[in-house]
Amino acid sequence: MTDRIDLRSDTVTRPTAAMRTAMAAAEVGDDQYGEDPSTNRLQARCAELLGKEAAVWMPTGTMANQVALRTLTRPGDEVVASRESHAAWHELGGAAANAGVQIHEIGQGGRFSADDLRAAVKPRNFPIFPTTTLVEVENTHNRAGGVIVPQDEVLRICAVARELGLSTFLDGARLWNASAATGLPVAALAAPFDLVAVAFSKGLGAPGGSLLAGTRAAITAANRHRQRLGGAMRQNGIFTAAALYGLDHHLARLPEDHANARVLAEALAAGAPVQLDLATVQTNIVVFHLPQALPLDAPALSARARERGVLVNAFGPRTVRAVTHLDVTRAQCQQAARVLVELLAG
Ligand SMILES: *Cc1c(COP(=O)(O)O)cnc(C)c1O
Repeated sequence: MTDRIDLRSDTVTRPTAAMRTAMAAAEVGDDQYGEDPSTNRLQARCAELLGKEAAVWMPTGTMANQVALRTLTRPGDEVVASRESHAAWHELGGAAANAGVQIHEIGQGGRFSADDLRAAVKPRNFPIFPTTTLVEVENTHNRAGGVIVPQDEVLRICAVARELGLSTFLDGARLWNASAATGLPVAALAAPFDLVAVAFSKGLGAPGGSLLAGTRAAITAANRHRQRLGGAMRQNGIFTAAALYGLDHHLARLPEDHANARVLAEALAAGAPVQLDLATVQTNIVVFHLPQALPLDAPALSARARERGVLVNAFGPRTVRAVTHLDVTRAQCQQAARVLVELLAG
């Protein structure tokens, strides 16, 4: 399986030998008692990195999002989020099932403006409207192709949220990528938000895990919701040691993934009759669309590419996603582009 080029997601990376060594050597304890030293170390380090008072480890980014919604809303509330956000599209309706909230998707291309937010917030104390209590920003934005939400826009959105009495949540599963691409520290990107989620299982290459950071009070509440959802683990130092290793050794190499995504995207845009806006290729994700005139739709392209050892995701009937990561080289991205161009041209 080593010669296949897996661009389906940056979650497919396997822990390196050195990461496994760090995991095997991890100091552990029972995290439900707050006694796992590796987890405590990761939480303290990330709270500091993200400029927040406290942090709590989560088994998955999906649970981090579910817990954030439960922490910052009440059942029946409305949450405003970007169109095609992960919380609305990739969590099997968990926002409704677990937090009892509905999501109002706004904007375009992974972004929305402060004015869009203002227009979306429903008037309070109206007998029929749900209460809008939270705005969520996803940065980078997955389904929009890994685009970065400009920080001046974020600042304006969060200022309007404060003015209107809304809480703020940043789904920063790939905040490390946004930071690497903009040069802004993650603390600056997280600063305007009440709660922020980051992932270790994507660009950082750990086998699992995310984390929520915020005020001590918000993290205490989040910890209780994690317990209630069944996400409080025991010796999860095995996982958090991998996350610490990822911060030490893989954070600095993210620009490589971004450059590889660029190589792939430019080859596709130049050689294949696809719709691919190179301006959206800002980090490690390439999303492109197959025009109706092409005989291959996304599932067919994905199946044909797989036969040739290249794995990409059919993200919609005519939408394809490719993601670069630790386990694919520049040469493999060039090879993947050759295969996709051949399939699309032929
Ligand atoms: C992957 C992802 C998540 C969920 O993370 P999992 O660990 O896969 O559950 C949440 N938000 C965004 C933007 C993501 O890309």
